[in-house]
Amino acid sequence: MPAMKTWQNLLQDSITTYDDLKKHLGCDNSAICDVIAQYPLKINPYFLNLIKKPGDPIWLQAVPDPAEIHDQICHIDPLGEEQLSAVPNLVHKYPDRALLLVEKQCAMYCRFCTRKRKVGTSKMHISSDSLNAAYTYLQNTPEVREVLISGGDPLLLSDEALGDILSQLRKIPSVEIIRIGSRVPSTLPMRITPKLVNILKQHHPLYINTHFNHPTELTEEAAKACAMLADAGIPLGCQTVLLKGVNDSAEVLKKLFTGLLRLRVKPYYLFQADLTKGTNHLRTNSSVGIEIMRQLYGHISGMAIPTLALDAPGGKGKIPLTPQYIIEQGASLKFHNFRGEVCTYPEPCNHQ
Ligand SMILES: *Cc1c(COP(=O)(O)O)cnc(C)c1O
Ligand code: SF4
Repeated sequence: MPAMKTWQNLLQDSITTYDDLKKHLGCDNSAICDVIAQYPLKINPYFLNLIKKPGDPIWLQAVPDPAEIHDQICHIDPLGEEQLSAVPNLVHKYPDRALLLVEKQCAMYCRFCTRKRKVGTSKMHISSDSLNAAYTYLQNTPEVREVLISGGDPLLLSDEALGDILSQLRKIPSVEIIRIGSRVPSTLPMRITPKLVNILKQHHPLYINTHFNHPTELTEEAAKACAMLADAGIPLGCQTVLLKGVNDSAEVLKKLFTGLLRLRVKPYYLFQADLTKGTNHLRTNSSVGIEIMRQLYGHISGMAIPTLALDAPGGKGKIPLTPQYIIEQGASLKFHNFRGEVCTYPEPCNHQ
């Protein structure tokens, strides 16, 4: 890949059709056409280059699967986001924070996307009117202390458009924290340019939660993007999605989470995959994640361990899923430690 290509050039060269898929990845299953008609396809050349063979963890995240249109189990809007929208594109579900969708496109369309019902399609409508309505709502709702900017991917906006949104939010005194959710550091790291970073750092306290799912994504380019953001004083977190065949093993996640920590990215959430229509083939049973967490606690740095979270259907909110360590809870506590040994607290005192 020639180094001089800008991020915009790379996006233009993305795979978006079945013919492109055939040409670049040798897919020849015409059922994929029906999938693409419903859920958009985009794989940019950078992310494409991370695919090593059919069915590998990068392929599974990016290449459409006929199973997507045969999913009879899951729901179009599993988190009830449309119903919880105070104004269009502003989901206000928790007391002190709200989620603002500012861009419908992404650098790559993840097959497991929770907002698959609309991301990258004409079903997602974002306009200056909808943004203005959101600012007005936030002005009138001072209990919202933190605004999460998401989409789609907010970092696909132009520097100017993003800078404007950040400035508008900063005019609202009750908005203390701005948190951007972006997968760009993993799917198109060259989007993180000095000019972008310079805009972002004018709006502190600003956090970025990014989204890496597999150690293969921890490339030199990704490391550079994260370093630029961290050097600008932007705390970085990661929201990983637990996916069947991609990262559903303790070994893979240990590599991912310790690797992220080296890039100064703190693993924040490991999500149990949502019940999103078109994604069921990638979803693990809820016991898988809990067992994996048991193999992480105590075995790798606590700094590298995210909270396993399940976003309860119907917009009921995220809840942590934690392995059971407590055996008995009474006057004293009986529990397993990370090695599986039985311990008590307080311990019987032997010397006196
Ligand atoms: C996940 C989410 C948040 C943020 O939750 P945190 O636990 O603070 O990360 C806020 N609003 C909505 C609608 C969400 O889905
Ligand atoms: S980057 Fe995020 S919003 Fe975009 S397709 Fe992937 S999961 Fe969905």
